Amino acid sequence: MKCILCQSSSLNIATFRNVSIYQCQHCQSVFKNPSDYISRIEEDKVYQSHNNDIHDSKYLAFVSPIIYEIQQSFSTDSLGLDFGCGSGPIISHHLSTYGYRIHLYDPLFYPDTEPLQLKFDYIICSEVMEHFKQLYLELQRLFNKLKPHGKLICMTDIYHTDTDFSS
Ligand SMILES: [Zn+2]
Repeated sequence: MKCILCQSSSLNIATFRNVSIYQCQHCQSVFKNPSDYISRIEEDKVYQSHNNDIHDSKYLAFVSPIIYEIQQSFSTDSLGLDFGCGSGPIISHHLSTYGYRIHLYDPLFYPDTEPLQLKFDYIICSEVMEHFKQLYLELQRLFNKLKPHGKLICMTDIYHTDTDFSS
């Protein structure tokens, strides 16, 4: 199996609920066998069940490192994109109260692709990149939407070597 990030070879490290988990021998990425991906219809059902409330103070605290980074690095004159913002784009909503201009894109909840034609000073990718099926290509696409010196701001779970994928 080729790594979905760097195309190096990988090893099957676990099987969980009949899903094969692989780890790249070069970059250490951990990923599912692409043939085990669920269908787009099943995937949409899962996302529809996510309940992201823009007024949820616990969720706001969870994403506060992204908000802090944007406020430290960018003025309200800058242009942002919240890529994969979901049903409750809490980061964009919060920053808009301070005058920030952030476009929304989500294939399910904000499917208008018009904003994707623009170039951005920063792109927010919060709890999204772990869902990318073609990780390398998706990251390249996002990098190509950044202005020179723009930032791609990602948040996802960090891999821990003691993670037991089989359970
Ligand atoms: Zn790799």
